[in-house]
Amino acid sequence: MEDHFGHRISYLRVSVTDRCNERCAYCMPQELQEWLPRPEILSYEETLRLIRIAADLGVTKIRITGGEPLTRRDIVDFIRQVPRIPGIRDVGVSTNGTLLAREIAPNLTTAGAVRAVGVRSLNISLDTLDRNVYAQITGRDFLPAVFQGIEASVAAGFEQIKLNTVLMRGRNEDQIIPLLEFAASQNLILRFIEMMPVSTTAVLSEQNFLPVAEAKHAIEARYGNLIPEPTFHTNGPATYYQIPGREQRIGFIGAMTNLHFCDSCNKLRLTCDGKLRPCLGSYLEFDIIKPMRDGATDDELRQFFLDVVDRKPQQHDFRENYQPNRKMIAIGG
Ligand code: SAM
Ligand code: SF4
Repeated sequence: MEDHFGHRISYLRVSVTDRCNERCAYCMPQELQEWLPRPEILSYEETLRLIRIAADLGVTKIRITGGEPLTRRDIVDFIRQVPRIPGIRDVGVSTNGTLLAREIAPNLTTAGAVRAVGVRSLNISLDTLDRNVYAQITGRDFLPAVFQGIEASVAAGFEQIKLNTVLMRGRNEDQIIPLLEFAASQNLILRFIEMMPVSTTAVLSEQNFLPVAEAKHAIEARYGNLIPEPTFHTNGPATYYQIPGREQRIGFIGAMTNLHFCDSCNKLRLTCDGKLRPCLGSYLEFDIIKPMRDGATDDELRQFFLDVVDRKPQQHDFRENYQPNRKMIAIGG
């Protein structure tokens, strides 16, 4: 699958739920949440069918996300099926980390189970090492569980674990260096992400936006000039650097300030209620659940994917005074 701008689509992010056990301000509104009714959510069988179709069309990499994917019942049994789909070579999971250390069988953590069914990489969100600040950002006092989750994940032997930090001025700029040292101590990749307007409009403002360039300057002031690693990629739009004199890699996801952010986009998104989105930062979404439930054939669904890719925009609209419609939690980050 290739769009009009030469983007070859090989990566599908699959959201399996809009529900979450946390309440991050930048991802979901603070008011009482209305979750989507169960019948509107793709069943696992339906999701697997769509992944199979995407794989027929050249998708090789799947990332399972949400909401919090590990809150959905029988998630491990679902994930087990994904690497078995012909053509799928790489399966990752994005999680807030709170449930990774939970034992689901004697001596088996959720992290261990997810690794055992063939997941190669984990992305774990971690915005701060300060328990109070963590509770303020996420609405939940779960930081100790996240630390346990990270420990369980390291023990589970994933090929790659990345920590993802959303930058917020006034909230976590003092955490840039501590997070970097924490990532070094665990031998994990740390990535700093610019806040995007995907929650309520009020969340992203001039006052709380912290550009990745500032985080980079803070790091360089401490450790010296970062060494670019233009050849290192992890399937996404991050740019990576090495810390001088160390075997440590960090990444920056400058969705708002990097004008070349979309140049190498290779992604489509499938929401948990069966919408295909060609771009996170665009209103475009196409309802595939209805034709599927109305009896569309695999050929028709393949054509649906191709039509969506045909409408993939050249770049996101975040810099165009973008007003979010669907919240991040309901898209799948
Ligand atoms: N619940 C999981 C988690 O927190 O990692 C997976 C879903 S979450 C929507 C995926 C990623 O999106 C997280 O790393 C989160 O920090 C990021 N995210 C959510 N809202 C964001 C925003 N407004 N701007 C930038 N990143 C955001
Ligand atoms: Fe939940 Fe992840 Fe969104 Fe936070 S970022 S509210 S953990 S889905």
